[in-house]
Amino acid sequence: IATLYAFNAESDKRFGKGKDPKDIDRKVDSVLALMTLDEKIGQMVQYNGSWDVTGPATGTDNKKKLENLKKGLVGSMLNVTSVKNTREAQRIIMENSRLKIPLIFAYDVIHGYQTMFPVPLGESASWDLELMEKTARVAARETAASGVHWTFAPMMDVSRDARWGRIMEGAGEDPYLNSKIAVARINGFQGEDLSDPLTIAACAKHFAGYGFAEGGRDYNTVNIGLHELHNSILPPFKAAADAGVATFMNSFNEIDGVPATASKYLQRDLLKGKWGWDGFIVSDWGSIAELIPHGVAADKKQAAEMAVKAGSDMDMEGGAYESSLRELVENGEVEEALIDNSVKRILRLKFELGLFDDPYKYFDEELEKKELYSEANQQVALEAAKKSIVLLKNEADILPVKKGVRNIAVIGPLADDKDSPLGNWRAHAVENSAVSVLEGIRNHAPEGVKVSYAKGAELSTGKRGFLDPMSINKTDRSGFAEAVKLAGEADLVFLVVGEDAYQTGEGRSQTDIGFAGVQDELIEQVTGANSNVVMLLMNGRPMDITASSEKVSAILETWLLGSQHGNAVAEVVFGKYNPSGKLPVSFPRNVGQEPLYYNQKNTGRPSGGEQVTWSHYTDSRRDALYPFGYGLSYTDFEYGEISLDKNEFSKDGKITASIEVTNTGDVAGEEVVQLYLRDFIGSITRPVKELKAFQKVELQPGQTKKLSFTIDEEMISYFTRNKKWEAEAGEFKLFIGGNSVDLKETGFEYK
Ligand code: BGC
Repeated sequence: IATLYAFNAESDKRFGKGKDPKDIDRKVDSVLALMTLDEKIGQMVQYNGSWDVTGPATGTDNKKKLENLKKGLVGSMLNVTSVKNTREAQRIIMENSRLKIPLIFAYDVIHGYQTMFPVPLGESASWDLELMEKTARVAARETAASGVHWTFAPMMDVSRDARWGRIMEGAGEDPYLNSKIAVARINGFQGEDLSDPLTIAACAKHFAGYGFAEGGRDYNTVNIGLHELHNSILPPFKAAADAGVATFMNSFNEIDGVPATASKYLQRDLLKGKWGWDGFIVSDWGSIAELIPHGVAADKKQAAEMAVKAGSDMDMEGGAYESSLRELVENGEVEEALIDNSVKRILRLKFELGLFDDPYKYFDEELEKKELYSEANQQVALEAAKKSIVLLKNEADILPVKKGVRNIAVIGPLADDKDSPLGNWRAHAVENSAVSVLEGIRNHAPEGVKVSYAKGAELSTGKRGFLDPMSINKTDRSGFAEAVKLAGEADLVFLVVGEDAYQTGEGRSQTDIGFAGVQDELIEQVTGANSNVVMLLMNGRPMDITASSEKVSAILETWLLGSQHGNAVAEVVFGKYNPSGKLPVSFPRNVGQEPLYYNQKNTGRPSGGEQVTWSHYTDSRRDALYPFGYGLSYTDFEYGEISLDKNEFSKDGKITASIEVTNTGDVAGEEVVQLYLRDFIGSITRPVKELKAFQKVELQPGQTKKLSFTIDEEMISYFTRNKKWEAEAGEFKLFIGGNSVDLKETGFEYK
């Protein structure tokens, strides 16, 4: 390659390899100058590598893909993984194509590559940004060691609807928390320098609005206005762009009649224009061609024209760019300058990754063997899993398990499930490789404690991976008797219930978010036989657990925690780790409350009064069962009053708010101290409360720490009626506490 592109030796001498951005631009231009129109369009095409690239291609489609690879008419492939396969695909293009432009390989590494971490919603419950950067870094190492350069993560779609299956993939309902977590994950994946062979490019997705699907139904219409878009959905994307995320992915949905993939406003005007971001945008799977069923394009040609003009740079497995861009440019319907701009963005990332210096630099089978599922990576998985667990209920301090407990029964359809903890979107996880709850409890139970197990019931009888409601077991109760017998004999029962890994995720929206199948009956029977039942909830979405939550003594929200699931749960129940997680999403009382979120608007008829006309339900309370930010500990934290160094500020000024937090219990613990604001009068209606800062602190028994927060103009700014991000003068309320409901409060003014 060095001889093909004359710039290398000379410019590297002057700037050092790939370090100077201007140098990269010069290199990109010099490659672009050599390219034919077809080769340029090829860079904008991404193929699914679903055939075995090391063998002959089968089927017409794959044969055509192979031919185009040889001609260098492909920029990227997704789903080609492992050093053996990626090396071969790269070899095909490097040894056959005219310009030898290396491929970039992409894959959905959502919560780990082979070592699995908690599903992203679960991990977000840790509120531990350093931890999330660390798990993303480990995922990047394993991914890069397998020859893949680019992950389609993190997903930063704010979602307020537990029915939406993909709520599992994000950081929950809050824009600020989503922004912070998105940046931590991006930093983890990308590291300091993309040319480091153990980092990978990240992707901010899905741009935008995907999490607001009507009725929580995946891919459904999104109907929101401009203010809601800017205030609730875009903040994490802006934060990602500012953090230098390498790529964006657009989304399947429409917003107010315009499919996001065809939205010039979002892609070209806002992201690449106003925000000045210089990476490239990949479409979602086939989302360019889906402009046809959306009903805004008549055919692939029109779809391609719309998408390229809107700013979508790469067509993921859609075939629209490949089939139509050439004709569109030749007919003068699309300016070649638009194509050039997309290609430059794509080539720039290839240079940043160092692929032009060495297209094979990621392909090291020894490293792959060493890195994947290493002991060190398992330790990080354990740490992440422990920190993601949320203690929702702990009556009479039944947890941690007391010394007198000699006989433990572990019961439930998910109790010995070694697969569900791996979650959906599990990349290269080995099936059934997780530590089950039963295994974890057995590993950690003190000597002499008897641990017995009964499944109680099957959750599903269907094919794994394609779990559909029809395959849920609704009739077989034959295991109940054994479960009831063991429960009756035990001092303490762990009841492991919830969702199979494939009940949440893409295309898995539900209208019922309660316990599927015969689980409710099992809970009823087991709690009837023993009054000391701890529910270990496994799930990827907030569930309706209202009825059963009253029957059990304690509840641990354990999500789908990844490879080390069972060990993490055991460390928590036996008191080796004091739970510190807080819900990143509200748990409803029933599905009819969805979408449910804490940062709602006041409305003209707020609830709380006697008048029956005020905004409420006649058959249910309107608040959450467990609110956003909620989570207990084995110790208690007491909050002092908030003190402010002054109670007003103006442009460029600031206020410092302080609060003392004391651990009043007997064990050390971590608390997530949360700061919320309310803006009383705005040019548009404002939420009743918004998270604006948080700090996670560790406190020894009896220890007090004073925490300080800075309130400045940025913190109170929002997308106002002037259609810009700005601060408005007025009165604010300031809240600090351990969840979004139990809060100390004071006020200040911005002048
Ligand atoms: C999903 C994306 C994902 C892509 C590639 C799509 O169906 O919406 O999030 O990255 O597939 O697997």
